[in-house]
Amino acid sequence: MTKASRTDNAASSGVETIDEFRARARAWLADNMAPIDPAHPPATHRDEERCWQRARELQKRLYEGGFAGICFPRDCGGLGLDYEYQRAFDEESFSYEMPLILNTPTFTICCATPLDTGSEEQKRQHIAAALRREEVLVQLLSEPSGGSDLAGVISRAERDGDRWVINGAKTWSTSAFAADYGLCLARTNWDVPKHDGLTMFLVPVKQPGITLRRITQLNGSTEFCEEFLDGVDVGDDAVVVGEVNDGWTVASRQLYHERRAVGGSSEFARGSGSEGGRTTPVNYAALARKSGQADNERVQQMSGRALVHRAVSDQLGDHVFRGVRDGTLPPAAGTLLRLFHAETVTHEMDTGLAITGTAGVVGADGEGLGDRPALLVPASGLIGGGTSELARNVIGERVLNLPRKYAADRGVPFSQVRHGN
Ligand SMILES: Cc1cc2nc3c(=O)[nH]c(=O)nc-3n(C[C@H](O)[C@H](O)[C@H](O)COP(=O)(O)OP(=O)(O)OC[C@H]3O[C@@H](n4cnc5c(N)ncnc54)[C@H](O)[C@@H]3O)c2cc1C
Repeated sequence: MTKASRTDNAASSGVETIDEFRARARAWLADNMAPIDPAHPPATHRDEERCWQRARELQKRLYEGGFAGICFPRDCGGLGLDYEYQRAFDEESFSYEMPLILNTPTFTICCATPLDTGSEEQKRQHIAAALRREEVLVQLLSEPSGGSDLAGVISRAERDGDRWVINGAKTWSTSAFAADYGLCLARTNWDVPKHDGLTMFLVPVKQPGITLRRITQLNGSTEFCEEFLDGVDVGDDAVVVGEVNDGWTVASRQLYHERRAVGGSSEFARGSGSEGGRTTPVNYAALARKSGQADNERVQQMSGRALVHRAVSDQLGDHVFRGVRDGTLPPAAGTLLRLFHAETVTHEMDTGLAITGTAGVVGADGEGLGDRPALLVPASGLIGGGTSELARNVIGERVLNLPRKYAADRGVPFSQVRHGN
């Protein structure tokens, strides 16, 4: 049982300064959340059910304590406060166990998207349920035929009276096995150009007709899932946007939130620690000392360059967030964060591995290099949230306004486009 009541806190938070909020958060965290023992940080394995149960438990405590959904509106169950309050809470909660695996995709993407595009009913129902820890939401976007060309999805939804019936296949769905609902993009009109015939559905993942299988990765993780949808019967209320065939508007918003989330700067994420339980970034000085290279000038230069990347990455998030909010940058600028974050992680891991040599490859005791094979970390960062190649295309065309690349299917009804059906 938490020691402060949700109602009392929510009522008072509207008039609090950031400093008052911070002080109240500090006291509440000390009373209610489990501190992390740096020598034995709680490892979170996204592919283990028990970690999801633990995350839901922690989320419940945050909700009851009045600290869930700091930047979500009040009528959706949040606190309706500015990003600065979230940041203050993140700083205070850094050394406590937090339900970090609920951040992405549940809060940062799958709740943020209906907030912009969903009906009032959907916002109230699903965002509030997620904040209460009752719903975990995931993304059902990528398909076996390819993920980069998202507007080219070939899963289909067809009208059957007042219901929709979905058939198709989705893949690489992060944590779908632990989810309650999935934002699922499907084609509802084949006779118009590809972007104009899509609809976004909010589908219960444990619905009859959905066969979910877990994918085993090279590192043994089974977090990713693939889903086969055979005659999945959903009602009208499962459509996220009131307008059918306007799914690309929703998907575009979703990608915007995803790129900011993957870039590490979503106001809807809370807690700043690392999911894996390690709360410290790579410590180059310690790595250099351990490997007997503390006086090596080359190692010092490489470390300095990596630390500059890290500092710029940290600052960029705030800059882009404010730029998009104030309208000085287009929403597509979120892709800058996605790209720079992936570049930074890659640079940091390359630097760490250059210093440690083969010892770092297995990730044994790498001073922040992580407890999984370090070489896999950049690879996932370069692909997740849309690949870095696609991010460069988006930045070129929609941030720098360079000419759009040629596309053979532009303006052509999707039924006439050759695709791997
Ligand atoms: C960590 C992680 C989490 C993920 N989570 C989810 C999730 O929750 N839900 C979900 O639906 N998907 C998820 N994905 C899948 C991800 O969105 C796709 O892997 C990604 O969009 C790329 O699609 P693909 O793998 O099918 O590659 P493809 O689209 O087949 O691309 C193959 C290669 O071609 C390049 N390429 C393709 N088109 C172009 C182009 N126009 N210009 C230049 N290069 C191009 C790509 O960059 C890539 O190198 C996740 C992936 C990762 C790594």
